[in-house]
Amino acid sequence: GLALTLAACGGGGAGTGPAEGQGESKAPDEVTVGVAMPTQTSERWIADGDNVKKQLEDLGYKVDLQYAGDDIPTQQQQLDQMITKGDDILIVAAIDGTALSSQLANAAAQNIKVISYDRLIRDSENVDFYVSFDNENVGVQQGTSLLQGLGLLDAQGQETDVAGPFNVEMFAGSLDDNNAGFFWKGAQSVIQPFIDSGKIVVKSGQTSIDQAATLRWQQSVAQERMENLLTSTYNDGSSVDGVLSPYDGISRGIITALQNNGYGNGGKKLPIVTGQDAEIASVKLINDGVQYSTIFKDTRNLAGEAVKAAQAILEGKEPEANDTETYNNGKKVVPSYLLESVIVTKENITTALVDTKYYTQAQVDAGQ
Ligand code: BGC
Repeated sequence: GLALTLAACGGGGAGTGPAEGQGESKAPDEVTVGVAMPTQTSERWIADGDNVKKQLEDLGYKVDLQYAGDDIPTQQQQLDQMITKGDDILIVAAIDGTALSSQLANAAAQNIKVISYDRLIRDSENVDFYVSFDNENVGVQQGTSLLQGLGLLDAQGQETDVAGPFNVEMFAGSLDDNNAGFFWKGAQSVIQPFIDSGKIVVKSGQTSIDQAATLRWQQSVAQERMENLLTSTYNDGSSVDGVLSPYDGISRGIITALQNNGYGNGGKKLPIVTGQDAEIASVKLINDGVQYSTIFKDTRNLAGEAVKAAQAILEGKEPEANDTETYNNGKKVVPSYLLESVIVTKENITTALVDTKYYTQAQVDAGQ
């Protein structure tokens, strides 16, 4: 009786056949991949969406690509719909990494696997794989390029005999994005020793991630905070020498605030400002000597890894991970494939971005 009942329920674990829908992969053109992206206000996510879609379609899959306008309920609804429609697998770049547990539970109940894209989805058992960059190292690169721009580190990353002190202000990303903490941690690991030695002074005293955070990574939020810092801290004739910024949109908000305050254009020297994503508008600013650096993350390769993982899962295989320790989402350590990023300054725009065909020289010159 007992054995029979278990077998009939298909719960015996012996893997006896197609009842669970496993082991039998559908033909690619019968498969729809749901792709949930956060926003179209930043170029990188448009590139991510386009690249993922194109690469999936090249393999013959159907693609259901949705953008959520940085609105959490919209993204939840889009995922609900993908699950109801029966999309076969989900690739998700979360807006708020902690807000998707119930959607992911529903997906798991229907045996729909979930690949967390770029930003780790937290607080859920039902994240099957993670593709991203080495996010702590992105932060290390941001901090390093800030110190190099200030002259405190040389091109090889060795400390110079420049004494400073330099006034630096620091910005972080959106705290509901798991990446924000990694970027911050990496950057602080290289900046903190210079604060300790007095070569860097955070004149505002705002040195915690909570004080530095930028909700939804918004340019306008960053611009306003920079304006407030200039008024509260730098109206005594002192100048800002460097700004740690985690993302190009934030950098442009910071630069606008500085320019409105008389920096640049023959006024006070614009500070060293970092960034991330190599957005074309910022690449032009870097080429023009306005922004100092960005971090290039090749979204074509990230899309490639997401698509490889999706294909493996759809074919009933394990996707290949190269990191199985770093990304604990609060419920489990999610097997990950992490890519490397590159610091871009005026010196290597051509080799990093043009020679690799990420942009044409004409795009760099036009900033669009
Ligand atoms: C991404 C960054 C991006 C930021 C804002 C992060 O999760 O990793 O590349 O700059 O979101 O969109």
